[in-house]
Amino acid sequence: MALEKEETSLSSRAWIEINVENLIYNIKQIENIIPKDTKIMAVVKANAYGHGMITISKILEEYGINDFAVATIEEGITLRKNGLKGNILILGYTDLSKIEDIIKYNLIQTIVDYEYAYKLSTLNLSKKVKVHIKINTGMNRLGESYKNIDSIKKIYKFKNLNILGIYTHLVAPDSLLKEDIKFTQSQINNFYTLINILKTEGYNVGKIHIQSSYGILNYSNLKCDYVRPGIIMYGVCSGNTRIKINLKPVLSLKAKVTSIKYIAKNEPVSYGRKYITNKNIKIATVSIGYADGLPRSLSLKNTKVLINNHYAEIIGRICMDQLIIDISNLNVKVGDAVTLIGDKYYIRANFIAKKASTIPNELLSRLGNRLEYKIVKN
Ligand SMILES: *Cc1c(COP(=O)(O)O)cnc(C)c1O
Repeated sequence: MALEKEETSLSSRAWIEINVENLIYNIKQIENIIPKDTKIMAVVKANAYGHGMITISKILEEYGINDFAVATIEEGITLRKNGLKGNILILGYTDLSKIEDIIKYNLIQTIVDYEYAYKLSTLNLSKKVKVHIKINTGMNRLGESYKNIDSIKKIYKFKNLNILGIYTHLVAPDSLLKEDIKFTQSQINNFYTLINILKTEGYNVGKIHIQSSYGILNYSNLKCDYVRPGIIMYGVCSGNTRIKINLKPVLSLKAKVTSIKYIAKNEPVSYGRKYITNKNIKIATVSIGYADGLPRSLSLKNTKVLINNHYAEIIGRICMDQLIIDISNLNVKVGDAVTLIGDKYYIRANFIAKKASTIPNELLSRLGNRLEYKIVKN
């Protein structure tokens, strides 16, 4: 499975390296702060935030993770077709015309609200469909309101449904502002109150879960059956957190030097003549561009890359398939690897995302369109 680094840099244009040990390290850090009886439901939606859904899921399954979450039925089917055995919860909406595939591929569907559950109960299905009920406690996206206790009780009694769990989602778990903490606490309290009412009245509620990454870090003592980490599993943390756990980035984004040139003073570099040399410089062309997911908004902002263990700056506009870096004073040759995102301060996903006016989740999940994936074991 592991490819030699040399082989990578010889043949590839642009690629992602996945560090298996860092992924496992992060999982262990998460396990260390959650209660003993709480299990990790690994969120691998959006191609595992650009890390490669199948590869990441298989590594996690091999480690012992048995529960996964995806956003769409297609992602769930892809995992099954590639041999994943664990539970797979679909966090998003699935059109009712596709419900037989939920059953066929042994997936778990989220009940997005009462109406969805009702419609499901009227279908003629080959078998009961496995579901978790989503409760809206304030996000106001998916979920039946925690206030509609009677509707929620009815969902538990509907035919066609094999209800295995019930969950909610926090709105601002990454904020340490007093009002946000108060809001989060009310979300948590309202959810648990609902659960207690249901349990008291004899309902078998199933597994309960609340926290995604920042909920895990800021509300780590909640007693739930699952936590749903995404971004921190990949070793990236951009929110405000009370607990600082050590995380290691799993992904590195790399490309190659394809051409080296000496450019005189007062020459333009790249589209639009937005960068003009103010002295004689040496430049290198690199085989990656915005069509590979590296935001074009990083252009003309002194964005750094790493090459042969030295920082170099991107100059001129980032193109669709290529970009150009200033390598004056550096010892660089054609074929050398350039790291665009990795484990050094100025090229961390956090830092790069901020420069591009976004969050690392968006930066990472947009990667991968044309990139190769390489597994690296330390
Ligand atoms: C995406 C998602 C997660 C994971 O979020 P992170 O902040 O990346 O940990 C968890 N739960 C739900 C419902 C999600 O949509």
